[in-house]
Amino acid sequence: MRSEGGAEARAAGFVPERVVEAIRSALGTPGLPVALHEPDLSGREWAYVKETLDSGWVSSAGDFVERFERMIAETAEARFAVATVNGTAALHMCLHLLGVARDDEVVVPAMTFVSTANAVAHLGAIPHFADASADTLGLDAARLDTHLGEIGEMRDGALVNRLTGRRIAAVVSMHTFGQPVDLDALIEVSARHSVALMEDAAESLGTTYKSRHTGAIARIGAFSFNGNKIVTTGGGGAVVTNEEALGRAAKHLTTTAKLSHPWEYLHDAIGYNYRLPNINAALGVAQLERLEEFVAAKRRLAGRYLDAFAGVPGVAVFTERAFSRSNYWLNTLILDRGLEAARDEVLRATHEAGFLTRPAWQLMHLLPMYADCPRMELPVSESLAERIVNLPSSANLAPAEGAARG
Ligand SMILES: *Cc1c(COP(=O)(O)O)cnc(C)c1O
Repeated sequence: MRSEGGAEARAAGFVPERVVEAIRSALGTPGLPVALHEPDLSGREWAYVKETLDSGWVSSAGDFVERFERMIAETAEARFAVATVNGTAALHMCLHLLGVARDDEVVVPAMTFVSTANAVAHLGAIPHFADASADTLGLDAARLDTHLGEIGEMRDGALVNRLTGRRIAAVVSMHTFGQPVDLDALIEVSARHSVALMEDAAESLGTTYKSRHTGAIARIGAFSFNGNKIVTTGGGGAVVTNEEALGRAAKHLTTTAKLSHPWEYLHDAIGYNYRLPNINAALGVAQLERLEEFVAAKRRLAGRYLDAFAGVPGVAVFTERAFSRSNYWLNTLILDRGLEAARDEVLRATHEAGFLTRPAWQLMHLLPMYADCPRMELPVSESLAERIVNLPSSANLAPAEGAARG
């Protein structure tokens, strides 16, 4: 099948080697292999981490956590930011705070990293998969509206899936590869159907939608600071929101729901040990100091890919929509329809040349544990997943003019 498809693709004038040449022309002569995404730790990371070691404050108390939370809140233009051990924990907390409970359904994109669906399952709830728009690579609000209209009915003020009898409690939007979804459209649709909307902003730190930072535009949102994200704390995440009740509850529940007392261990709810350690927050403060620099470099890199691929038939580099300023977390090449069978040849040729490209994630409804979950028709996600190739996207691949490469 694969070689047959490759032959068809070549017949249509598409040659995977031209993708390799275009990447080479965009990147110049970096050391090989070139990773998909690696952190740049050349700022104050050493100094701040050393401070935590010298002071002994490496764990759950210490100044860097609060400093990091203030910086996240400022960056995301959110009133409240609560740092967590990872992005999945932040997602879990967001859903919990929105009232998602056992046997609820939660709308999740079919095309996302598995954590989005896992966070729903961790609450005993059931992911309900929705399709993407080729315009944004995120949820298609218009088709979600139609779908909810068809399968949903209001019972006692809550949206219920007539086919399963379960409440549809929330919608999780995700900003795919750092490109923002059309949030205003989703805010309208979720309000019309009386479901809460949250943002999985794990990939979109530094990305704005209509000049507002992503993360806390919907009621609540989650960031990730995993090692492959634009800013890393080693492992880490954050909950952001503008709602005071949600912000205070996030802080309380991620710190074992402990009441403040000089010596007693008093807890007034079943909390979680989700607080980001101080040593990780120290790393995060150093990284966040350079966020604008990273975004600028990644946008420069996107421009270089755009130029390099301009003359390559059969492919297009995904570019930000008019309403956004993207962090271009992962640059995304999309093969034309009809070239699906050539995707693996592109992956193979680029890997052989030392460029560690990646396909999109396996779609959620194709994973064994989520195969039986409810879903709408997913033609766009299914088509995109067969045609997406993520390109090496580290910030240090596009140093400013005049700066040394390294
Ligand atoms: C990275 C990521 C997460 C999970 O973050 P972790 O910090 O790895 O737990 C969740 N959702 C999306 C879309 C991600 O890319």
